[in-house]
Amino acid sequence: MDTRTGLPVVGMVGGGQLARMTHQASIALGQSLRVLSVSPDDSAALVAADVRIGTHTDLAALREFAKGCDAVTFDHEHVPNGHIAALAAEGVKIYPGAEAIVFAQDKQRMRERLSELGAPVPRWRAVSSAADVVDFAASLAAAGTAVDASAAGGSGAGWPVVAKAVRGGYDGRGVWMLGDAAAAEELVATGTPLIVEEQVPLRRELAALVARSPFGQVAAYPVVETVQRDGICVEVLAPAPGLSEERAVEAQQLAIDLAHALGVVGLLAVELFETDAGIVVNELAMRPHNSGHWTIEGARTSQFEQHLRAVLDYPMGDTSPAAPAVVMANVLGGPAGGMSIDERLHHLFADDPGVRVHLYGKQVRPGRKIGHVTVLGDDMTSVRARAARAARRLQEGE
Ligand code: ADP
Repeated sequence: MDTRTGLPVVGMVGGGQLARMTHQASIALGQSLRVLSVSPDDSAALVAADVRIGTHTDLAALREFAKGCDAVTFDHEHVPNGHIAALAAEGVKIYPGAEAIVFAQDKQRMRERLSELGAPVPRWRAVSSAADVVDFAASLAAAGTAVDASAAGGSGAGWPVVAKAVRGGYDGRGVWMLGDAAAAEELVATGTPLIVEEQVPLRRELAALVARSPFGQVAAYPVVETVQRDGICVEVLAPAPGLSEERAVEAQQLAIDLAHALGVVGLLAVELFETDAGIVVNELAMRPHNSGHWTIEGARTSQFEQHLRAVLDYPMGDTSPAAPAVVMANVLGGPAGGMSIDERLHHLFADDPGVRVHLYGKQVRPGRKIGHVTVLGDDMTSVRARAARAARRLQEGE
């Protein structure tokens, strides 16, 4: 507790934009987020009042950081699981716990657990040799579940298959489409621990975001569509256009069931593929998530406040949308040169006063997420066009 205010202190490990926006939410609750940041120039370290410099792999630094915190949480999944367990054993309220977060850290453990729970997942296998990958592709062909190989550009029955690094992938890094045995051979030779999956014939990608408190209360946000380009999420449409009520409820219920079954405290984002046959789980994140940035203006309670409420075991906030159509578009760093980001902002504000802008205080590098924009309205098509135009103005200066 902060004795100056009588209100709790939450510590967030990691100083990226998720911590920055959680800090922003903490202010309204009378708090100021404590941040453990690798560098004083990180996004959240630039704004929070209580910043400790240290790395998330250093147990001594984590222990020191946790002193005086009512709850400790994360803006990424890279804290070693053993460190989380050690702190919890010492009495630190650290969420999500080691037993839960492992399913967001390790894609093999996640696939195993989801399969055990009977959740819909792509056909998959852990592999340790190219022969295993070939065998998996053959099994897909035999089961007749693989997409048509020629249509998908593969080199034969069962191919292509999707290979994923078991640990450490993000924004599509750590995901490879393998077209044949030679590609499998080359990847396996790198020594990266891998799983392989069938290539899901997806219509689009969805995300179901829920929060769960230690008490066990859950709150579910409307299911959204996430639009990816080159493995990076570029747009989020809330609610997912044209999604049937039945499928939306199914996705929300799946996320709630998983939050309970895995013992998640805080936010759980379930990334989903929608196919003609139904929904399939792609992966899990246990922290504020890019698919929930729209909630800052677009829902009664933002995901960032909800995460704070959950880790503090406060009652959950209302997740109702604030408008019939909400679109969030990520702003990626554009090519070097041209107008400064400040000039671009000027032009954007002149062009569309209704756009909400969030810049993360990050150095602009091509392809790096440096901010996002959100537009609310009545009609998804026009809201989407405005959000895309605003993101382009900031990204490319036109
Ligand atoms: P990351 O952890 O890097 O975000 P993901 O597992 O989410 O990796 O995969 C990144 C993207 O690759 C997904 O958003 C999706 O577009 C595509 N993808 C991943 N797995 C599959 C799959 N089994 N079938 C089809 N596309 C996939």
